[in-house]
Amino acid sequence: MKERISVAIEMAQSWGYASGAAMERFSAGLRERRIEALRCSGCGRRYLPPRPFCGNCHLILEDWVAVADAGSLEAWTVLNLPMLDGRTGKVREAPYGMGLIRLDGADTTLNHYLDLADPERLAIGLRVQAVWREELRGAMDDILHFQVLTEEP
Ligand SMILES: [Zn+2]
Repeated sequence: MKERISVAIEMAQSWGYASGAAMERFSAGLRERRIEALRCSGCGRRYLPPRPFCGNCHLILEDWVAVADAGSLEAWTVLNLPMLDGRTGKVREAPYGMGLIRLDGADTTLNHYLDLADPERLAIGLRVQAVWREELRGAMDDILHFQVLTEEP
């Protein structure tokens, strides 16, 4: 019988990718606390996060429009397992909330973290507001999470 030997190897890897022109402009806006969507000149749909083509019309999108950093919760969940956060590369401890948020002025939803200060209050249609990082760097995690609005702004 052959002896089986296991050797644990840790490998560090770094990688990068080209986010594309639309996400480059979107990220530059985040650095200035500005959220912009791309509007389709055909159907008028405002995409956030921005994308280069309209999924309905297949037109190239070039019309940038500002949207609010507050909106409505369209779906949500509370996760009870830690997960590697692809935005930061760090493990996010459980529990944490994720939501699909339709910012005012956008027609599509943004997937982002929710503040779980009061998870019993989470509900579809709830008004939420972005909580921004103090030092912005032009990345999606410039928005730390969305918090529930108790009153209209
Ligand atoms: Zn369209």
